[in-house]
Formats: sequence, C-alpha cells, structure tokens
Amino acid sequence: DVMIEARDAVRSFGQTPALRGATVAVAPGEILAIMGPSGSGKSTLLHCLAGILVPDSGEIHFDGRRLDTMDEAARSALRRDRFGFVFQFGQLVPELTAEENVALPLLLGGVRRDAALRQARPWFGRLGLDGLERRRSGELSGGQAQRVALARGLVTSPKVLFADEPTGSLDSLTGEQVMDQMVGAAREHGTTVVLVTHEARVAAYADRHVMVRDGKVAALTPERVLS
Ligand code: ADP
Ligand code: ADP
Repeated sequence: DVMIEARDAVRSFGQTPALRGATVAVAPGEILAIMGPSGSGKSTLLHCLAGILVPDSGEIHFDGRRLDTMDEAARSALRRDRFGFVFQFGQLVPELTAEENVALPLLLGGVRRDAALRQARPWFGRLGLDGLERRRSGELSGGQAQRVALARGLVTSPKVLFADEPTGSLDSLTGEQVMDQMVGAAREHGTTVVLVTHEARVAAYADRHVMVRDGKVAALTPERVLS
C-alpha cells in the first residue's frame, strides 16, 4: 500500500544534476525521514514528491495518480487540498498575526475569513501556543514560530505533511518539542509525513529512514525506529 512515491526520478538544474534516478515509496500513515549530506538531493526529492518541482524523467505517484504529468494548475490544487508544508525557517508572513498565518492555507483554498480563523484556533491549544493567536508572527520566538508553521502545515488536515529541515533553525530542546508535536499530531490524524533532515536525532522520530547520496536513494533501513 503506497501513499506517495518517486520512481527513478531524475532532475537537473542547468548543468547540475540534483537527482539521478531516485526511487522511494511511502506507506499511508508512515513517517519517513530522508537523510543524507548537504547537496545530495534531499530537498529536490522532497520538492518532486510534493509536486513543487517536476522531474525531468521518472514518475511521481500520489494516491494512485500520476503527479508528474499533471499541469501546474492541477498540481497547485493538489498541493493546496492534500498536502501540508513545514520548512526550516517557518516562512511565516511577519506582518500577519499567528492565527492569520495558520489560517492562510484555508483562505487560499477559498474558506471565508471567520470560518478559517475558527478552524485555525484549536491548533493553538494543541501545540501549546495558547494566548499567541493575535501576536504578530515577526514577534514570536523561533520555537513559537516553528510551531505556528506546523499548525499552518496541518490546518487543512493534509494527507501528506512535507517537512524540510523543520528543526534546522532551532536549539535541540525546542527542536525536540516541535518534533514531538509534529509526530504526535501526525499519528493522531493518520497523516503521512515526509521529513528531510541531516540530523540523526530528528530522523529517530521517523518509522523508517532512507539515505540520499549523489541524487540516488542509496540505502533503505527497514527497521522501525519507533513503535
Ligand atoms: P540537499 O537538500 O540534500 O542539500 P538539494 O536538493 O537542495 O540538496 O540540492 C541538490 C543539488 O542541486 C545541489 O548541488 C544544489 O546546489 C542543486 N540545486 C538545488 N536546487 C537548485 C536550484 N533551484 N537551482 C540550481 N541548483 C539547485
Ligand atoms: P535546503 O536544502 O535546506 O532545503 P537550500 O538553502 O539548499 O535549503 O535551498 C533552499 C531553496 O533554494 C530550495 O528551493 C532549493 O531548490 C533552492 N536552491 C538550492 N540550491 C540552489 C542553487 N545552487 N541555486 C539556486 N537555488 C538553489
């Protein structure tokens, strides 16, 4: 049973090969960590799986559908409706409040403002952010901002959450709190998680990890780290 997979994905940027035939499959509800050295192609693989980038060749499958042959409008709709995203530096809109940032994916999906804010609010309690709803995002601490980013990634109840170095900008204790909450929320909702990290400590939260080297998925470790 496969939720999302790349089959022999190849992608270059100009003369720079980023992926040279990467194959990986993620099961429904699985938390997969993509590891590997800097520049090995982890982010490019994540972006291909998430329909942000299209591979030059190879296939991307999501929930029985070919993602790589869809046009940009269809991929954009799929990302909006089925995927959530968390990046290394939260990438919140600093002028908006925390709750407006969390509500943003809903607003972009056409949900009315009051309904979107109502749907955003429970995440503040769930992620230990009570009282920060109206704070401007630019005034949040790093850990708070990353939890707001996590709430924004989860607010649409995505099938797949893509996280690219989600703790990369945090100290280790704050990073562990964010990972605890990401994994807790994913387990609770059955969300599939594809996580890019170069930190073994972060990868330890995953069910399974794969290593990317020189644009290929080099090794598969079948053992379940948690559970
Ligand atoms: P990682 O996430 O493992 O650090 P990346 O997927 O970001 O690796 O990058 C793989 C290779 O592709 C690197 O050589 C990187 O510089 C290059 N690359 C990635 N994205 C781009 C881009 N948008 N334009 C040019 N080169 C890129
Ligand atoms: P990470 O690998 O931690 O995700 P990077 O700083 O490598 O972050 O990349 C951030 C963004 O810049 C990504 O969208 C990536 O595709 C792009 N990128 C990476 N390397 C290059 C590059 N050499 N030239 C242009 N864009 C790049």
